[in-house]
Amino acid sequence: MGVDSIVSSSSLGPPACEKDAVALHFIQEMTTNCDPVQEKVLGEILRRNGETEYLRQFKLDGATDRETFKSKVPVVSYDDLHPYIHRIANGDFSPILSSHPISEFLTSSGTSAGERKLMPTIPEEMDRRQKLYSLLMPVMNLYVPDLEKGKGLYFLFTKASTKTPGGLLARPVLTSYYNSQQFKNRPHDPYNVYTSPNEPILCIDSFQSMYAQMVCGLLMRDEVLRVGAVFASGLLRAIRFLQIHWRQLAEDISSGILNPNITDVSVRDSVTKILRPNLELAQFIAGECEGENWEGIIKRIWPNTKYLDVIVTGAMAQYIPTLDYYSGGLPKACTMYASSECYFGLNLKPMSPPSEVSYTIMPNMGYFEFLPHDPVNPVTVSRDTPPQLVDMADVEVGKEYELVITTYSGLCRYRVGDILQVTGFHNAAPQFKFIRRKNVLLSIDSDKTDEAELQTAVNNATALLREYDTSVVEYTSFADTKTIPGHYVVYWELLMKDPANPPSDDVLNKCCLVMEESMNSVYRQCRVADNSIGPLEIRVVKSGTFEEVMDLAISRGASINQYKAPRCVNYTPIVELLDSRMVSAHFSPAAPHWTPARRG
Ligand code: AMP
Repeated sequence: MGVDSIVSSSSLGPPACEKDAVALHFIQEMTTNCDPVQEKVLGEILRRNGETEYLRQFKLDGATDRETFKSKVPVVSYDDLHPYIHRIANGDFSPILSSHPISEFLTSSGTSAGERKLMPTIPEEMDRRQKLYSLLMPVMNLYVPDLEKGKGLYFLFTKASTKTPGGLLARPVLTSYYNSQQFKNRPHDPYNVYTSPNEPILCIDSFQSMYAQMVCGLLMRDEVLRVGAVFASGLLRAIRFLQIHWRQLAEDISSGILNPNITDVSVRDSVTKILRPNLELAQFIAGECEGENWEGIIKRIWPNTKYLDVIVTGAMAQYIPTLDYYSGGLPKACTMYASSECYFGLNLKPMSPPSEVSYTIMPNMGYFEFLPHDPVNPVTVSRDTPPQLVDMADVEVGKEYELVITTYSGLCRYRVGDILQVTGFHNAAPQFKFIRRKNVLLSIDSDKTDEAELQTAVNNATALLREYDTSVVEYTSFADTKTIPGHYVVYWELLMKDPANPPSDDVLNKCCLVMEESMNSVYRQCRVADNSIGPLEIRVVKSGTFEEVMDLAISRGASINQYKAPRCVNYTPIVELLDSRMVSAHFSPAAPHWTPARRG
C-alpha cells in the first residue's frame, strides 16, 4: 500500500515516511474496530487458556464469548492469584494460569505484603510490547519534524535478575525488554537513534551505566534532539548525577581517557570507541556546570533539544516544576501507558501539556474491562456480588473507572489498581486520563488519605512558598503513631532558588495548616471533633535526601527505570534515614476547619 492511500484513511495526520504510514494505519484500524478486536482477543485468550487449572474451575465448558466469561469468572486482585503464582515460582510448570509456558516473572513496582508482585509473562508478550513501542515514533513524527536528523539522549537502566526457587527469572519489565533480541538487535531506524550504545544500558552497575550514558550524551551534545528517561524521576536523577560528577566527566572528555572506575569491559570498549579528546567541549561543560545556577541546564548543554520524553502523569506530576526549572520549560512528552502486567496504550497527542494527557488503550494488547469508580460510594467486589464491568467500547466520557485486565499470559479479570477517567474517543477507542493508583496512603484513625489527596494538600501548601522562590522537589509521608494521638508527618525536600530569602518558621507552620485544610472531612473530623489525630507535621530534610532514599530502595531491589518515590514510607530504615537528614520540624498551629455535615 502506498503512503498516499493510507494517508487518506488516517485522521492522525500525514505520516513522515512509509514505515510510519503502516504504523498509523494500524492505529486507525485497531481504534476503529475496537469492540470487534476486543471480542477477538478475549476469544483467543479463552481458546488457548480455557483448559488451564485456573479457568477450568469456573466451568466455562469451552465457551469463549464475553457473556459466559463475565458471568462465570471472578474479578480478582493479586492476593487472590498469589497461591497460583507461588506454585509457578516454585517450579510447578503445569498449565496453571497459561497454556503457554511462563517464561519469566516481571517484578512490578507494586507490592503485596511487603513483597514485590510477580507478574507471569510468556515469550510472545515481548512482540506485543515491541509493537506498541513501534507506534510511538510515527505518532511523535506527526508533531515534531526532523527527528531523523539527530539522536535521543535516553537514560535507561537494567537491573540484576533474580531466580525464583523453581528457576524462573524475575526481573523488571524494562530489564527484560532491554535484554531482548527485539531491543538489542533492533534494525537501524533513523528516527530512533540513541546517543548511547547498548552496553551501558545493559550494565547492571547503576553508576557505570549512568556515567557511560552521560559521557555519550555530552560528547554528542549538538546532535541531541530529545532527552528522556522512562519516568520524570529518572531524568532528574541524571541531572543530579551530572551535578555531582561533571568535573570527572569533563576531565575524561578533555583527556579522551575514560574514568578508570568504569571497569565493565564491554562498557569501556563501547564508550572508548566514541571518546576523543575535546578540550573545547570539556571547557564548555565545566563552564556551564561550575556555577550555582542550574536553571535551564538541559537546554544549555543540549541546545537542540525539542522535548523531554518522560512520563509526568500520575504520581510523576509533582516533578513538573523541577523539570521545567532544569529544562527552561521544554515540552514534556508522555508517550505511553504500560505496566508489568500488560502494556496498555499510547498518547496520540504526545506534545499536549501534562494536564491534558490522555492515553488511548490499544485493544489488541489484552482484553480490558472497566469497573465504574465512584470515590464517594466505592463498589465492593466479592464473589457473591459480582460487579458490573463495562467493556472498552461502552465507557462513558467524564466517568472514572478502575482498569481490569485479562492477558494472554494468564491474568483473568485482574484489577491493576489504576483509576482512569474517560476524556473522549479516538475513533471507537476510548481515551483515558490517568487519575491515580488506587490506594490508601495514610490512616491514623478512621481517616483514609490517598495519594491524590496528599498531592493536592502539598500543592496547596506550596503556594505559600512561591513568594520565597522555593518549591518542594520531593516529598513523602509517614503515619506517626508513636505520638498520642498519632499524626501525619510529611517530609519535604526544598529547592530554594534564593537562599537569602528562605521561608520562615511561621510560613512553614502555616503550610502544615493549609495541608490539613486540604484533607478530606473524615480527617478533619478526627482532628477537630474526635481529637484522634494530632497536628500535622512537616519535616524539612536536607537537599539530596531523596536521592539517598532512592539509593536505599535500589539497593533493596527496586529498578531505576520504574522507581517512583514512595508517597508514604513505613520501612524503618527509610524513616530513620529521613529523620537523620531533618533540618527543621514544623507543626500545624491551629485546628483545621470542620463542621458536621447535615444528613438529609
Ligand atoms: P510497574 O508494574 O512497576 O511497571 O508499574 C506500572 C504502573 O505504573 C501502572 O499501573 C501505573 O500505575 C503507573 N504508570 C505507568 N505508566 C504510567 C503513565 N503513563 N502515567 C501514569 N502512571 C503510569
